[in-house]
Formats: sequence, C-alpha cells, structure tokens
Amino acid sequence: MNEFRQDRTTGLWAIIAPGRGRRPRDLKAARAEDSPLPAFDPACPFCPGNEHMLPRIIDEAARDASPGWSARVVPNKFPILQLGSSAEKDPLGTGYGEHEVIIMSPRHDADIADLLAADVQALVETWFGRFEAVQGMPGIEDVVLFCNRGSTAGASLAHAHSQMIGMPMRSPRVASTLAWSAAYHRDHGRCVVCDELGREISAGDRLVELTDAFAVLVPFAARSPFEQWIVPRRHCPFFLLSDDRERAALGGALQRALRRLNAAAGMVPYNFVLEPGSRDADHAPFAHWAIRVVPELTTPGGFELQSDVIVNPYSPEDNAETLRQAVVGPSG
Ligand SMILES: [Zn+2]
Ligand SMILES: [Zn+2]
Repeated sequence: MNEFRQDRTTGLWAIIAPGRGRRPRDLKAARAEDSPLPAFDPACPFCPGNEHMLPRIIDEAARDASPGWSARVVPNKFPILQLGSSAEKDPLGTGYGEHEVIIMSPRHDADIADLLAADVQALVETWFGRFEAVQGMPGIEDVVLFCNRGSTAGASLAHAHSQMIGMPMRSPRVASTLAWSAAYHRDHGRCVVCDELGREISAGDRLVELTDAFAVLVPFAARSPFEQWIVPRRHCPFFLLSDDRERAALGGALQRALRRLNAAAGMVPYNFVLEPGSRDADHAPFAHWAIRVVPELTTPGGFELQSDVIVNPYSPEDNAETLRQAVVGPSG
C-alpha cells in the first residue's frame, strides 16, 4: 500500500511506494561508475605532487606519514561564488561568497568509508575549522558543507573531496526548516528533532545505529532509497557548538553509515550534506544540526518537480533493516 508521509522535522512530503516495479536491478543501473581508480593520477590536481595545478593551498591536516597531509583545503578553481573587495556592496548581484574544496585523502582512489580512523577524525576537525573560518568571513550568512560521490550526484573529479560554500544569504532550505521547527516549538515548547529522535529510538524500526553521541536512522518520510540521517542525541543548535566528544564520534558514525550504504546498495552515487542548524541565539531552542546522507538512485520527474512531493520506491523500514544487517568492519 502506498502512503503519503510528511517529515515531522521539515514539513516536506514523500510518497512511500514500495513495489512500484523498481527492483534492486534498477538500482544497479543507477550505480556510480565503479571501474577501479589508480592510487595516483598524474592529471589530477588533488593528487600529491600536482600542487602546480592548484590555485593555492588554504589549509592542511598534517600527518607524519608521506605525503605529510591527510586532508587539504584549496580554493575551487571554478567557484560558484567569489570573494571580492567591492562585491560586499552588492553581494547578491556580484555572486559574492567563498567556495572551497576539502580534499579528503591524498590517495586518488580513496573512499571516505575506508579512511583510517585518525584521518577521518582529522577530516572532521578540518571541516569544523573551515566552517568556523568561512562563517566568520565578512558578509557570510550561511555555510553549506557537502560531498558529491559519482558524476550523476554532481562530482566532477573522481578524487574524493567535499566542498564548502559560504553564501551572503540564508539558504532557503535552512530558512524553511527553521520556520517549521520554530512553529513546532511555539506549539509544543520543545525541539522537533529531539522529539522525533525520542520517538524513533523507542520505535526502533527505522533506527540503523545508536551510540552515546549519535543516532543514525532512515527518516520516516525518506526522499531517497537508503537515505540516512546522523543526528546528535544531545540537543545542539549549531554545528559549531558541537563538543569534542561529538566530533570525535562523528567521523566513525559517518563512515559506518557510508559502509552500510556501500554494502547494501553498492558503490552508488550519493550526496552527504551538513544540516548546520543556526548560529542565531533566538533559534537555539529549536535548531538541531545533523548530517544527511542521500543516495542519488531515483530521478525526479515532472510530478516531483511541480509538487515537491518525492516518490520513494522503497520502504524506509525495509531499508533500515537492510542497513542494520550490513556488515561494517572497524575503521581503516
Ligand atoms: Zn587524484
Ligand atoms: Zn533538539
């Protein structure tokens, strides 16, 4: 039976339509190009030794082993937005902003799911540090941190990287989520994400993993097959307010979620994105940051385009069961 579901934390709608004829073989057709990559590509600007192809290096997570870094931050060579001294007068009209690339490993063939625990920890701290720096740049309202894997999910280079874009406006999506959670807080006096987490943890059927710091779950109204949210269990309104314990646990939680996805669905294209919460003190009672891992396995058509109701041909409960059972080894 198909079912309309509204996400209680965002207000967005999905139609859960399992058995619409899409079977795992259709997922297979949507798989990312999974021909093996070389460990080094002489033509890749993100590979060590090819620094001359980079505009400059903004930051690095140093490590003892060669090549001396585990993550590297560089300007995007083809930025969507650019800082400029005069641009601040008309930030929207001049495409003002910051666009950085965070190279996630020196190895051309690395997948974030397989990085060493220490390296993924350094990567999380690099994200945190750059988020703080970009958020602090003049005129930056919102910072968008995301990773695209696979060309159909928007990745233009195979070497694993994530990106950060500082915008002079609040993302409409963040604004609508905050408006939704503000309304819930007015009506109920509580954070909608905390309430939803409590429900999901006691129901358990969409829960993938529960640790001290994070719950990983398939959302009730998942908009993609195998979508997973990584949510801090403590009410925390903004990514930059996460504590050491949470950041120490985040890399492992994200890696296990991605390994489960790899095991359940193969090397599928995906995006993972940071839902940042809000730095505005007025939003502190109801904003709640998280990471969303969204596989790109279905192609929205005219119905989705016009209605903004997404058809998900998989049951979130079945997907959670498959992900829970997926075997995930220790890091690295
Ligand atoms: Zn490379
Ligand atoms: Zn909360």
